[in-house]
Amino acid sequence: MERRDKYTLLIRNARRYDGSRVDIHIEDGIIVKVGENVTAEADRVLDACGKYVIPGMYNMHTHAAMTLFRGYRDDMKLFEWLQQIWAVEAHLDDEAIYWGTRLACLEMLRSGTVCFVDMYWHPDVTAQAVKDSGMRAVLTSCLLDAGNEKTKVNDRLKCEKAYADSLKWPDTVRFGVAVHAPYTVCRENIRWAADFARERNLLLNIHVSETDKENEDCMAQYGKSPVKMLDEMGFFGEDVILAHGLWLDDEDVEILGRNRVTVAHNVNSNLKLASGHAFRYEELKRAGANVTLGTDGCSSSNNLDVLEAMKTASLLQKGWRRDPESLPLGELMDMATVNGAVGCRVKGGVLAEGYAADLALVDVHSPAFVPNLNFLSNLVYAADSSCIDTVICDGKVVMEGRKVKDEDEILEKGAENAARLIAKVH
Ligand SMILES: [Zn+2]
Repeated sequence: MERRDKYTLLIRNARRYDGSRVDIHIEDGIIVKVGENVTAEADRVLDACGKYVIPGMYNMHTHAAMTLFRGYRDDMKLFEWLQQIWAVEAHLDDEAIYWGTRLACLEMLRSGTVCFVDMYWHPDVTAQAVKDSGMRAVLTSCLLDAGNEKTKVNDRLKCEKAYADSLKWPDTVRFGVAVHAPYTVCRENIRWAADFARERNLLLNIHVSETDKENEDCMAQYGKSPVKMLDEMGFFGEDVILAHGLWLDDEDVEILGRNRVTVAHNVNSNLKLASGHAFRYEELKRAGANVTLGTDGCSSSNNLDVLEAMKTASLLQKGWRRDPESLPLGELMDMATVNGAVGCRVKGGVLAEGYAADLALVDVHSPAFVPNLNFLSNLVYAADSSCIDTVICDGKVVMEGRKVKDEDEILEKGAENAARLIAKVH
């Protein structure tokens, strides 16, 4: 008897944004047919009657296992806050990273996210947690020497080892290299990271211009902005995912656009830490940058909800620009889906044949969707992520009826590990 390797799924009776009916046939993680009345044999047929289908979302900047520090130190100034977070982070071990990441994945699936870009420690353990959750991720190994000569060498060795370990990860979990920030990593290691990544065709990840203080310090030390300094070092390219980019002048915007850099706007974290609000979305988009959304870690954004970030990002653009036409729904949806996929080098974020089968089904049986004059409007401006009913990632159902595998154990272990770490600093 012939062995059947390919897993096939047929989603029937879903609805598109305009309300029209659609069936989706998925084979081996790829959408192979989208249309009305698709007839195909499948290992599983999923009836999506009463639900709308959207591409799964991308969280383009987070520190996943920081879910364990949710609610630990709020309403504080950035650098004081960072000191306190770093004190408890120093005690992180494999078990905490694993359960913190599983908790993050559970939370992201619940809000329709299929892929995230992580900058954190212990990438090999994180990879196992992502694999067990059924999500995608780009996990970036972080360099952070803070001017210490010994750490400078150790960071490179750690990155090399993490890369070697990553060769056994599944295709859905990718390795990348992170430079924590231009002010926490020496120029020699910034160059090393870019060379190491480019020789291996890996993505690069960096925090840049999160605060005006960071820019002022860089001006005082080098006489130029962080973006200009990095540009002169040849750091930027289409392979760079830049988190924040909140304090950019016209020349910075032009540099990021010309280099087709992916910028992750972390609106809720930026507002909560009072880092700033005037994110230059329109200018970056016009210049050619790939603008996306992130949540940042749970210690500053408190949740990992991209749908919530979409609403805040839209309202904030309209508000600070005093222009209600800024960041309209279609562009906002692209920021959260296809732009993220482009930044992560996944052929995804689009409901079309040949694209990754990463989808979410939205339950519209709630007041937020009545009347349903404009589905996207209701999804972003009226609903919250409790409307996300089912998530399919890489062609497999990873959440159904809001139930996720192992969720009770994840909640319990997450609470346990958070308490264990916090007890060490008190
Ligand atoms: Zn961050």
